Amino acid sequence: MTLDPPTMLTLSVALAAAAALYLAVEWRSVREASLLFWSGGFAIIAVGCVLALMRGSGLVLVGVWFANGLLVVAHWLFLLGVARFTETRLSRGWYLIVVVWLAMLTLPSDQAWSKVMLMVQSSMIVLVTLRASFLLRPHGKSLSVGAVQLRYVLLGHGLFYLFKVGTAAISGTAIDLVSFRGEIIQISLVEGAIAIMLIALSMTGTERYRREQQIARLANRDPLTALYNRRALEVRAPRLLNQVARHRPGALLLIDIDNFKPVNDLYGHTAGDRLLITLSEMVRAVLPEGSLAARLGGDEFVILLANASSERVEALGTALREQFRHVAAQTFDTPTPVTLSIGATLFDRPPTSLAALIEQGDHALYASKRGGRDSIRLVDRTTTAAAPVTGP
Ligand code: GH3
Ligand code: MG
Repeated sequence: MTLDPPTMLTLSVALAAAAALYLAVEWRSVREASLLFWSGGFAIIAVGCVLALMRGSGLVLVGVWFANGLLVVAHWLFLLGVARFTETRLSRGWYLIVVVWLAMLTLPSDQAWSKVMLMVQSSMIVLVTLRASFLLRPHGKSLSVGAVQLRYVLLGHGLFYLFKVGTAAISGTAIDLVSFRGEIIQISLVEGAIAIMLIALSMTGTERYRREQQIARLANRDPLTALYNRRALEVRAPRLLNQVARHRPGALLLIDIDNFKPVNDLYGHTAGDRLLITLSEMVRAVLPEGSLAARLGGDEFVILLANASSERVEALGTALREQFRHVAAQTFDTPTPVTLSIGATLFDRPPTSLAALIEQGDHALYASKRGGRDSIRLVDRTTTAAAPVTGP
């Protein structure tokens, strides 16, 4: 098999059509707009290559520059897809590319214009491709392997087109697209086929990684408050608990809303949900660095502190209780006050399990509820423990 233009173009049609189809199928399950832009780009490349093939057999349906110019539109769609993927707003200037492209279609497709057209179209591809590659640079966040790949494939592809602009500028080595001749055309067609494959592969990689991250995130979070759920806490707690030592005690605070049911009954479930979200925001705001917070379920929340002391637990619990009591009293008029009860435990040896620790917190919480609610009950289990502390 020789790598003559018709063979390479046929191969490119097959690859581009397969990539377009694959990305469209991916879009059906992920619904990420970038996949649609990328799929559209590959579909346009497939159409462009079919037109070029037809031209090779003497069937000139539309002008040469329309077929070749479709490549500009395809790369422009790649840029739009990358912009969506990186959540970047493109300036209006980038949309002018299509206007320039349309204007160019009115030019005659004769030999005299060949070089100019090729240089202008290739330059447009250089611009959009390098811009897309630039958008994928790391912004402080770590990029997925797929996104890094896409960035470098686009960079390489853009630089190849820059090389094409350079060769077009040197007379005698230009690609003659009208008659399919020229030294560069062979390399260009091979590069095109390889680029289709690499770009499509890295595009699917970028989105798949993001989807996996989203799924992992959803599986770890409580959907209402976006705090960790019990499962995520169980995964993360051992690291924190294993660092606990005599000079570095840990603490667990189990928090339950007092008289929450009347809020639901009198103001509706949505109002109750809002209060749960408000509490989660308060928890997040007071959470020290290196600690963990989760919603265990219903109106029950937990905080795990590293490097704690009875004073710190007291201060944090009291701050939360006071803030919450104030907000709840201003928002809801209920027969019994909507407040927080907190059961806390302080320890300086890694506990046998998180479940055992929660059970200890539960006992303290029960004592707090029994003692009249709106209070914190702290059980100090450190080896130097003084008497149990009780608030308010
Ligand atoms: P106590 O003072 O003894 O804590 O009683 P309580 O009224 O706060 O009720 P309890 O803690 O025994 O039960 C929690 C209630 O929270 C039960 C349920 O109606 C409500 N609840 C659980 N999950 C949700 C939720 O996601 N949204 C809303 N709005 N309510 C919930
Ligand atoms: Mg409750």
